[in-house]
Amino acid sequence: MSLLIENVAIAPVAGPEIESGHIWIEGDRIVALGPGAAGVPVLARASGDPDVVRVDGTGCLATPGLVNTHHHLYQWASQGLAQDATLFEWLVALYQVWAAMDADVVKGAASAGLGWLALSGCTTSSDHHYIFPKGRGDLFAAGIEAAREIGIRFHPARGSMDRGQSHGGLPPDAVVEELDDILAATAEAVDTYHDPSFSSMLRVVVAPCSPFSSSAELMTESAALARAKGVRLHTHLAETLDEDEHCLAQFGLRPVDYMEKLDWLGPDVWFAHAVHLSDADIGKLAATGTGSAHCPSSNGRLGAGIARVSEMVRRGANVGLGVDGSASSELTPLAGEMRQTLLFQRARYGPAALTARQALELATLGGARNLGREAEIGTLEPGKLADIALWRMDGPFTSAVADPVCALVFGPPPPLARVLVGGRTVVEDGELKTVSQDAAGRAGAEARRRLLRLAEDQGFRAVKEVHHH
Ligand SMILES: [Zn+2]
Repeated sequence: MSLLIENVAIAPVAGPEIESGHIWIEGDRIVALGPGAAGVPVLARASGDPDVVRVDGTGCLATPGLVNTHHHLYQWASQGLAQDATLFEWLVALYQVWAAMDADVVKGAASAGLGWLALSGCTTSSDHHYIFPKGRGDLFAAGIEAAREIGIRFHPARGSMDRGQSHGGLPPDAVVEELDDILAATAEAVDTYHDPSFSSMLRVVVAPCSPFSSSAELMTESAALARAKGVRLHTHLAETLDEDEHCLAQFGLRPVDYMEKLDWLGPDVWFAHAVHLSDADIGKLAATGTGSAHCPSSNGRLGAGIARVSEMVRRGANVGLGVDGSASSELTPLAGEMRQTLLFQRARYGPAALTARQALELATLGGARNLGREAEIGTLEPGKLADIALWRMDGPFTSAVADPVCALVFGPPPPLARVLVGGRTVVEDGELKTVSQDAAGRAGAEARRRLLRLAEDQGFRAVKEVHHH
């Protein structure tokens, strides 16, 4: 199967932008791209071969597919709760609801969440799942099954928490696991699912939840496990000032220094949020090649603060974007996080803080670097995987903007003519093609009803209180 996109504007992120050109895809790879029409051999083949799909990209902008580097898909089922809480208040309220989840909840939530991501131009997503109540089915497999159905490239992180309230942590003891169980389950997840190949649709990540819910031993054992198996490490870090205080009080160190002590800085690590960083912290991230996932809508909703993204980029610390879980970001589309990032940085640091092109780079190449996949995805180049978002820029309201990258980033996300993952069409004309879009959406709504019913069955009586606080 081959695909030729013609007459299309291209923002490849690497190399010069193309006002009108072509992209030639064979199998799951980009073989050629450039200005004007494709070369004679390609055109000859495209005109004679019924297995070649020709796409007229007139009025469209092709960018690398967007890469989402922080999410909790199960949270689709707990949107709209604890609306005005701080992070710690929000967590304490929601742990009780999440404790009731089962594999059906995760499957439905992940189907809706990943469908929603694909519909905003996302072709690769990570998922950080860190709550595994006993006897409730295979929650890790449920997310993977949903990703396979939607057809999105997936980097599920086997999360974990072992520091319940009785050990000075934030979560109730009922939602944490024992260290040995966590390490065994995490090793099994890697052995069962991780595919290190170039074209890989699934790579597993090791991801204890946060310094306030995971013990130092879990952090160091997880790092050793991940490095022994050659997979990446992810955790939440420096999200709020409450966390700063918690780390200082419990460990005598601020979050980045604590991570350094635990051997958690390095090119195989990326942190979610990294909002509250000192100059020295940014220097440590840059020097060690440690990445960060910036989640501006979630940070805004929880009043966490604004990450120093433009300065991190300037100093060479890698930043990708993330929507974060839907319980704190609601229905945030990944494409919209480019705009949110740009506006937050400019509101705080002035109009020169970040350009539209830099925001696009964070959402694509920055994300690919966080996931260790910059050789395969994140830019449009011959030899890379054909993960492409084709944005329709010729609508009645967007056509007034001459610069399509400006329109894409400064404006609301434009409609999608097509989303390709490894050359396979996942979205066409704004509709999911791999699964029924209605069914995926309804599965998310059913997951929410099921989760709240299960939570009430388990004696959780505070659903209404959660609503009103
Ligand atoms: Zn998160």
